[in-house]
Amino acid sequence: MAPEPLDLPSAVESSTARLVSSYAEAEQRLIAGSAVLIAEYLNGGSVQDGMVLQQALRLVARRIASGLTGQAGGLARDVALEAARVGNLAAIREVTDALRDYPRVREVYTRNAGATTPHGLRAAAHIAADLTDRLNATHYRITRFADDAYRAATATAGIGQVTGGTPQLAQREAWRKLTENGVTGFRDAAGREWELSAYVEMAARTTAIRAFNASHQDRMTALGIRYWTVGPTGFPCTFCLPWEGAILGTATGTFTEPHAVEDGTVAVKVDGTLEQARAEGFQHPNCKHTLIAYFPGVTTLKTRTPEEVAEATERFKETQRLRGMERAARRAKLAEQAALTDTDKALARRRARELQARIRDYTAETGLNRRPRREQLNLANK
Ligand SMILES: [Zn+2]
Repeated sequence: MAPEPLDLPSAVESSTARLVSSYAEAEQRLIAGSAVLIAEYLNGGSVQDGMVLQQALRLVARRIASGLTGQAGGLARDVALEAARVGNLAAIREVTDALRDYPRVREVYTRNAGATTPHGLRAAAHIAADLTDRLNATHYRITRFADDAYRAATATAGIGQVTGGTPQLAQREAWRKLTENGVTGFRDAAGREWELSAYVEMAARTTAIRAFNASHQDRMTALGIRYWTVGPTGFPCTFCLPWEGAILGTATGTFTEPHAVEDGTVAVKVDGTLEQARAEGFQHPNCKHTLIAYFPGVTTLKTRTPEEVAEATERFKETQRLRGMERAARRAKLAEQAALTDTDKALARRRARELQARIRDYTAETGLNRRPRREQLNLANK
């Protein structure tokens, strides 16, 4: 029997999409709303006074940040609870599939399976609270964006600036630079810098995967599963690859266990404990590997050949390349929002179209799934 490797990201995609799109839209509104004010200021429109501009920019940013503060807790809870629900159902489905040919044993294992376990729910609530904290921390940065925008709008040209242009040119350039990657300056625990949308997506995805795994593992334990294996799936990273096809348990060694579906016993050689695997990096952030129930005498352990590993690595590189193109398309659309003149707007729009055409070609060429959500700004209409 072949355990079906689970496509974890697709299982949690729906739960993260709403959260990510709320932040992407807020970022868009922040940049578009600030651009209108700055254009007024630079083009001698109704906003003439620097103080008035600064106050107006702060008002836009504060309004957007407080809107997000009102939503963050609920959105985070939805992500974690949805992932826990999917994790529970996936565990039941996997065990049912694994014992498909043994209805009587299957009945024994799954007769008490039901809704998400209390432990899975508690874990999800905890994980949701973590995400809410991380989201709330981004709101300070969003509020501070107003002052960055003000500084850009009032920037003076540097001495010896090659453009030799007017202050207006320096201000346009400073604003373009500030917004070219969206709202930036978010740091993760490892100190890496992120753009807002990418940061929120990473945080939401990590949350979903944690809640999924907690609930999934707890349901499997409740069903009586005592041994696990790791399926050959996803990016064969150095942390997880050694555990593919290995047996995990609560203690290392060889144990004599009853055969899962027949009379007699089976020797089960446990390669490591779950704690050990995790301490060595298994199920790191963004990891797609999940545990698969191991039934003594029934489950076939699966590993990948070097060719399969090479192919999966190649596939991963292609995916990363596509994500890079999607980010570029997103930036071009943000640049359109940020543009202070009609010419810049038209240029950004053309660039966004070109990038979308390249994405279409690349997905057709590689057969990869396009994720328009990552290219879009206005996601609520999708
Ligand atoms: Zn991994």
